[in-house]
Amino acid sequence: MNLKDYVTVVEDWPSEGIKFKDITTLMDNGKAFKTAVDQIVEYASEKEIDLVVGPEARGFIIGCPVSYAMEAGFAPVRKEGKLPRETIKVDYGLEYGKDVLTIHKDAIKPGQRVLITDDLLATGGTIEATINLVEQLGGVVVGCAFLIELTYLHGREKLDGYDILTLMQY
Ligand code: 5GP
Repeated sequence: MNLKDYVTVVEDWPSEGIKFKDITTLMDNGKAFKTAVDQIVEYASEKEIDLVVGPEARGFIIGCPVSYAMEAGFAPVRKEGKLPRETIKVDYGLEYGKDVLTIHKDAIKPGQRVLITDDLLATGGTIEATINLVEQLGGVVVGCAFLIELTYLHGREKLDGYDILTLMQY
């Protein structure tokens, strides 16, 4: 199965010149979604993972089925003001602006082995910020898994030293 057949490239969205990779057409196909999740589970299965961490919102979509399959926990990374208890935060630069990401302070115990998931690696800013949060809490990032990598944005270079899996490259 070629997973790229299930990704819809939307021209000029959300702004002119952007070719947005829409993964909803992969998610709504049961076989394609399972194939993608299974590939990440296979990658993660040798890493003795305690916890999956994913940034909202599409990081949840990829991370939750992986955590379920691996009997690992899942901890959400969210925009500021969304988590109800004490959080730590990090500022980060987006492709289209600036933002803040947060995680519950007690979400990760020191030494826990963490897999980070998101749908897409672009500039790497989101994942760099997520790694920062995990490491502030003493978690060990043992891998980062994405459906898609936009290689022309060189996000991988920001993640030097981390183990990265991407299922599709554009
Ligand atoms: P980065 O921080 O690596 O520059 O951007 C990655 C984040 O932006 C991811 O959380 C991803 O969901 C979102 N993103 C950026 N471009 C696209 C795109 O073309 N398709 C999808 N599905 N998400 C995108």
